[in-house]
Amino acid sequence: MSERPNILFIMTDDHASHAMSCYNSRINETPNLDRIAEGGMRFNNCFCTNSICAPSRAVILTGTYNHINGVTTLRTNLDGRQVTFPKLLQAAGYQTAMVGKWHLGHGGHNDPTGFDYWNVLPGQGAYHNPMMYDMGKEIYYEGYTTDIITDLALDWLKDRDKNRPFMLMYHHKAPHRPWEPDDKHADMYEDIDIPEPETLWDDYSNRATAASQAEMRVNRDLNPRDLKQPVPEGLSPEEDMKWKYQRYIKDYLRCVASVDDNVGRVLDYLDEEDLTDNTIVVYTSDQGFYLGDHGWYDKRFMYEESLRMPFLIRYPKEIKAGSVCDDMILNVDFASTFLDYAGINIPSHFQGHSMRPLLNGDRPAYWRTSMYYRYWMHLNGHNIYAHYGVRTHRHKLIYYYADGCGQEGASDDAREPEWELFDLDKDPYELNSVYHNPEYAEIVAELKDELHRLQDEVGDERYEKDI
Ligand code: CA
Repeated sequence: MSERPNILFIMTDDHASHAMSCYNSRINETPNLDRIAEGGMRFNNCFCTNSICAPSRAVILTGTYNHINGVTTLRTNLDGRQVTFPKLLQAAGYQTAMVGKWHLGHGGHNDPTGFDYWNVLPGQGAYHNPMMYDMGKEIYYEGYTTDIITDLALDWLKDRDKNRPFMLMYHHKAPHRPWEPDDKHADMYEDIDIPEPETLWDDYSNRATAASQAEMRVNRDLNPRDLKQPVPEGLSPEEDMKWKYQRYIKDYLRCVASVDDNVGRVLDYLDEEDLTDNTIVVYTSDQGFYLGDHGWYDKRFMYEESLRMPFLIRYPKEIKAGSVCDDMILNVDFASTFLDYAGINIPSHFQGHSMRPLLNGDRPAYWRTSMYYRYWMHLNGHNIYAHYGVRTHRHKLIYYYADGCGQEGASDDAREPEWELFDLDKDPYELNSVYHNPEYAEIVAELKDELHRLQDEVGDERYEKDI
């Protein structure tokens, strides 16, 4: 067995941390995901730099922000000629594989690169009886996709060369929309009501226009395919919201339960094969999600529920079991971290930091206390305005530049720009922008400077108008 650690990177799609019991979920239990937290470190402040599927995946692979890697929206595929961390691991002798959801394009330079083996869903893929591209070849599978992806991951692990370390990206489609559970979990939660979030009845007052314009309301925008059952007749508006929330959240949590079972199968395999000590196991999701928070489903906004990613990491050789970290990490840090553990030099153009010092219980002086975010996909998909912003541990400043900026996959139908500022200590649910409150004038000025400093640091452009 090589001394270099194996890396098992488990990623789901749209799994918010407030639906994981190790993050104190009020609505479900995730005993197998909790095993990773109990055996390693849980990060409470892991954020994505652009809260949507393909862009977050591109950031993770390339270690760069979206204006560098080119995947700014859902219509921009990843050009696989770029440097990615799997390529560097492969070149250094790791066996590498990518199984499950890819979502960065297919064919030509958009197929997965840097993997000895890949077998991926086309685009979003199906929940049942999926077609997959096995090294580019169409194969049809029978069964539930969460189980199938796990079977394929385990098959690859069993067949690997045991004399070399491995890096496996094991990516679920679940619990992405349209939240189709398997038969095993179909009746879970049938006889109970799932608690509603505090902000289910948000009226979007005291904020910029963007929040009220978003088209992802549980009580208005879920379609028949999402709901799967006809809405009962004669419901009051309150009963209608409650019924749709239960319909939505139960299917979402059933999909999560299947993920949890299947992650348990893979963790069991590591235990049985004596691989646990020398394997870095990560559990994350490409972004967070609104679980009825603000009356919404989906993601995209820089607000907390979709900005925050779950991030659990276990590596018994170095990481103290049951530890918790409140420092700010980003998806752009993952690539550098894996290279660091594998003893590979981190390319100078990578924009994240290895989080290994944090994992060893130290906070280096250079560690960030603010982060830069940008959602590019103006109006396309749920009518969300394009925005960028900065988050510190206490505050969040958002600028809705509300313009497509010529991006493929973004609308060129510009809207009036607006700012928002939230004091997260006083207003953790972000219900009251204090941008125009004179008491915060100094904070606004400081945060604008910080936003511009971060934009300069990562090399992104400004679109601010004088308002
Ligand atoms: Ca996603």
